[in-house]
Amino acid sequence: MDLQQLDQEYVLHTYARNYVNFIKGCNATLYTDQNKDYIDFTSGIGVVSCGHGNERIAHTLYKQSQNMIHISNLFLIEPQAKLAQKIAQLSGYDMAMFFANSGAEANEAAIKIARKYGEVKFDSKKYKVITLEHSFHGRTITTVKATGQKDMHKSHFSPYPDGFSYNAQLEDIYNSIDNETVAVMLELVQGEGGVQPFPKEEIQKLSKYLKQNNILLIVDEVQTGAFRTGEFLASNLYEIEPDIITLAKGVGAGVPIGVAMTKHKDIFEPGDHGSTFGGNYLSTAAALEACNILDELKNSGQLDETMIFFEAKLKEIYEKYTNLFTEMVGLGLMRGLRVKNSETQSSIIKNSFDNGVLVLKAGKNTIRFLPPLTISKEEITLGFERLDNALQKL
Ligand SMILES: *Cc1c(COP(=O)(O)O)cnc(C)c1O
Repeated sequence: MDLQQLDQEYVLHTYARNYVNFIKGCNATLYTDQNKDYIDFTSGIGVVSCGHGNERIAHTLYKQSQNMIHISNLFLIEPQAKLAQKIAQLSGYDMAMFFANSGAEANEAAIKIARKYGEVKFDSKKYKVITLEHSFHGRTITTVKATGQKDMHKSHFSPYPDGFSYNAQLEDIYNSIDNETVAVMLELVQGEGGVQPFPKEEIQKLSKYLKQNNILLIVDEVQTGAFRTGEFLASNLYEIEPDIITLAKGVGAGVPIGVAMTKHKDIFEPGDHGSTFGGNYLSTAAALEACNILDELKNSGQLDETMIFFEAKLKEIYEKYTNLFTEMVGLGLMRGLRVKNSETQSSIIKNSFDNGVLVLKAGKNTIRFLPPLTISKEEITLGFERLDNALQKL
C-alpha cells in the first residue's frame, strides 16, 4: 500500500486531508517528496513559531532526550520550573502555572480553576462560564461545549456538561451575568472564528467590570500567545490583567505543550488536577528554548520589523484584489482577509496550494495567515508573489 492508502485504512477520518507528503522544512519553507517547495504561511496552525528545522530547538531536544525525556510530576523538573519563571517574567503577571499537553487541556485546567474558585470563595456555589459566539476553545467534551458554535455541539456526543452559555457581543455579557456566574472566557482575537480582534476599550471596560464584581476573566491565548500578536501575550497588548490565561500552540515551537496560568496561586492542592505527560523534561526544555528564541527576536526589533513588512505586503494584495476581498483583519502575524463566501475561500486555498503557498481558512469566509514568527523577508515576498499568481487565476 502507498502512504495515502495506509492513512485511509488505519487512521480515523477526522480530517479532510490534503495528501501532499512534506519531507523537509527550513524556516518558512517546506519541501515535498517530489522536491517541490512551498512557502508556509500557516506554521502548522500557529504552532511552529520558531520555524521548521530550527537548529536551537533541535539541539535542545537532542541534548534533553539523550539525558531524560520524562520522570513524572512526582519529582522536581528543572526545565519546568525555569519555564514557569520565564513565562511569568515575559508576561509581567505575578502568576503560577499548570502544564498540560494541548490547548484544550489548558482550557480544561482553566475551567477547573474557575469552578473551584466558585465553590470555595463564595457562600453559595458559582459555576457558570460565559463564552462568546464564534469562539473556539477545544475538542474535549467540556471545551467543545465552551466553544460558542452550535454546529459543534453535535448530538452524537451528548450529554455535555452544564454551565456554559454564549453571547453574540461583548456588550451582551453584562446582562447575562447572574449570581451563579463565576467566569467569562474569551479570545482577544478570535482565531478559528475569523481572526477577529475585539476593540481594546471594550475589553478594558469588561475586564474592569468583572474585577469589580468578583467574576473571573479567563483569556484563551492558545492562538494569540507566545508573541503572535507582537507582545508576549495579547493581554499585554490590551493592557488588562486576567485571572487566568491559557497558552499552547506557539509556546513549544512544535512540541506539544499547554499552559494554564493564574494569579490565584493557591487554588489547587495536590490531587485536584494532574497530567501524566504535562510539563515533562522534553516539552518544557523545548518551550524554554522557544521562549528564549522569541524573546531575543522581539528584543532585537526583528519581530516588529517582520510584522510591519508582512502587513504591508498583505495590504498590497488586499488592495489589488478588491473583487475578492472585503476586509483585512487581525494583529501582528495573525492576519486574515475576508472573502464573500466559502466557495471563494476554498478556491483561494486550493489555488494558493497549487501555486506553492500554504494559507489557512478561518470561519466560513476568512483566509488566515499564521506564518512562523521567524519568517524571512525573502520568504514573505516569495509567498505573496505566489499568492498573487494564485489570485490572478480566479
Ligand atoms: C487551537 C485552539 C484551541 C485548542 O487547542 P488544541 O491544542 O487543539 O487542543 C483552543 N483555543 C484556541 C483559541 C485555539 O486556537
